[in-house]
Amino acid sequence: SNNRAYNFSAGPSMLPLPVIETVAEQLPNYNGCGESVMEMSHRSKEFKAILAEAEQDLRDIMNIPENYKVMFLQGGGTLQFAMVPLNLLRKSGKADYIITGSWAKKAAKEAKKFGDVKIVASSEESTFSYIPEVKKEDFREDADYVHITYNNTIYGTHYPYIPDTGDIPLVADMSSCILSEEIDVSKFGLIYAGAQKNVAPSGVTIVIMREDLIGFAKDTVPTYLDYKVHAENDSAYNTPNCFGIYVAGEVFKYIKNIGGVAAMHKMDVEKAKKLYDYIDGSDLYTCPVRDKDRSLMNVVFVTGDEALDKKFVAEGKACGLHNLGGHRSIGGMRASIYNAMPPEGVDELIEFMKKFEAENK
Ligand code: PMP
Repeated sequence: SNNRAYNFSAGPSMLPLPVIETVAEQLPNYNGCGESVMEMSHRSKEFKAILAEAEQDLRDIMNIPENYKVMFLQGGGTLQFAMVPLNLLRKSGKADYIITGSWAKKAAKEAKKFGDVKIVASSEESTFSYIPEVKKEDFREDADYVHITYNNTIYGTHYPYIPDTGDIPLVADMSSCILSEEIDVSKFGLIYAGAQKNVAPSGVTIVIMREDLIGFAKDTVPTYLDYKVHAENDSAYNTPNCFGIYVAGEVFKYIKNIGGVAAMHKMDVEKAKKLYDYIDGSDLYTCPVRDKDRSLMNVVFVTGDEALDKKFVAEGKACGLHNLGGHRSIGGMRASIYNAMPPEGVDELIEFMKKFEAENK
């Protein structure tokens, strides 16, 4: 664990060091059972306990109501772009999407394969630099669901409010913000999140789904893509990502130990505020995102000079500040400061930014 870099990658990204150390210690021989979690049958008593505990801890830290199912699936956020319409287009065949970035666009594009998709609002005209305000009247009354991307990993925005959809189930992609803030789960019909940012290594997708929405997939929907199959088989219909679920469970325990999601959120706010305040006060860097819509997790900024941005990313890497480049589609810089980024990592980044600013006036 010596000489670990501060890794600002948007995902996969840093995990809490105490979790990595626990996993390393338990790696060859989990709890003295004679096997590694990597080698263990998903039907074994040991793994069943790991899975049950992970689910319970997630329920505890997110305060998930009884009438919601929790599933640990594979296929990433991307597979959810298809599973959501395949399961939730159950009456009118209509779904309303709010477009706040590339992932929202991809989700809507996938849903169009299966139903009547309406783009209710979009901030694309301003390069997704803000979150549109949407009212209940903007949605089609008979829409089967409304889909939002709660935190936009590439553009560094986050909803400052939860859209009021009335009785229409609200579906949220929380891949890049899950466990960074307390959420009233009951406001959502379905929440999904790829694990590789705030939860675990890649290969696990968390789905939290209101029970009354389960069971509407058509007979032609492939077995794996039917939420009912996973809900009825407690995430072990087929072989799940056992190791990923185990690490996720360790992260849930870690969050519980430090005081839960509220404590996590407090640290996330402090880290992000420091960085945004510095950027806003600097003469070199600017953040293009509207103040109230700024993400706590993905801090996007530019110098205004593409060559200088590249130099920044390269010099940062040389100083042990890894992956500061913006998404390959937009360039610039992005510091992803997820839950596991220590406050010292943000302090070092700011020190580096000051030095770079002084050298490149
Ligand atoms: N949604 C969001 C908000 C994302 O940030 C990403 C990936 N960074 C995805 C979906 C796609 O996730 P995956 O690679 O797990 O399919």
